[in-house]
Amino acid sequence: MENLISLVNKLQRACTALGDHGEESALPTLWDSLPAIAVVGGQSSGKSSVLESIVGRDFLPRGSGNLWERGLTFSIGNYVAAVRKEISDETDRETGRTKQISTPNCIILAISPANQDLATSDAIKISRDVDPKGERTFGVLTKIDLMDKGTDAVDILEGKSYRLQFPWIGVVNRSQADINKSVDMINARQREREYFANTPEYKHLAHRMGSEHLGIMLSKHLETVIKSRIPGLQSLISKSILELEMELDRLGKPIATDAGHLSMENVRKLISEADGYQPHLIAPEQGYRR
Ligand code: GDP
Repeated sequence: MENLISLVNKLQRACTALGDHGEESALPTLWDSLPAIAVVGGQSSGKSSVLESIVGRDFLPRGSGNLWERGLTFSIGNYVAAVRKEISDETDRETGRTKQISTPNCIILAISPANQDLATSDAIKISRDVDPKGERTFGVLTKIDLMDKGTDAVDILEGKSYRLQFPWIGVVNRSQADINKSVDMINARQREREYFANTPEYKHLAHRMGSEHLGIMLSKHLETVIKSRIPGLQSLISKSILELEMELDRLGKPIATDAGHLSMENVRKLISEADGYQPHLIAPEQGYRR
């Protein structure tokens, strides 16, 4: 994931250097070509917990009521800034809640709590609206540890009761008591692993359950999407460079190379580095090093 973030950061820096800052635009922009992840689900379904678990850090506000009611969207290279923006854009969400996740670039993490009926899941409703075939939706079932005694989530996790293209992934996040006791991510991970490995109902599924597995699946999928976008991004960037060079020729001025800006040479270097990018999945434990 760190490798991937560094690649996207390079591409975003190239976009920014070329004057594309991801603002709303009627025309397709370079930023539009980069994938984003939307985390959707009802209030307290476990959105923040899942996101923090994937990133391996506590960084989201808690107990903020409807700020997190519907979900959030972020572009992987710049997630903290995007999360802040999302919070400030919260009022917009209720009016256009599927607007930001309806672009094909957006990968949806649909968070549903296992201790509620899946038929009433907000995440499923929203993802079905924007991705009816489930081609870019990862179904995540949280709170498996909180299900009523005598019930289990095996039918969902095996894809028998609600099928998605990507298999459902069950997770056990930190409970509120764990958060109050400041249980860290490493310990939470260890307990989650033990939960799936030692619970008779889930033992046979343990290898494809948990936040680590979710992180790996998401990382693989993002790599595939990003790799498929690189040629398009390159031609968009080359076109922008060409247009800017023509503009500079017309103006007859040298390119500014002050510390705050990238020169065209550097933009080209960033692009060629991105082009030579080789996918490399890091070991999960490396991803959670603080
Ligand atoms: P959000 O509102 O969707 O972002 O939900 P949060 O991630 O803030 O989670 C809401 C509450 O549920 C918090 O107290 C979490 O600790 C708790 N929680 C989330 N996932 C799980 C889980 O898998 N198991 C348990 N026991 N608690 C969870």
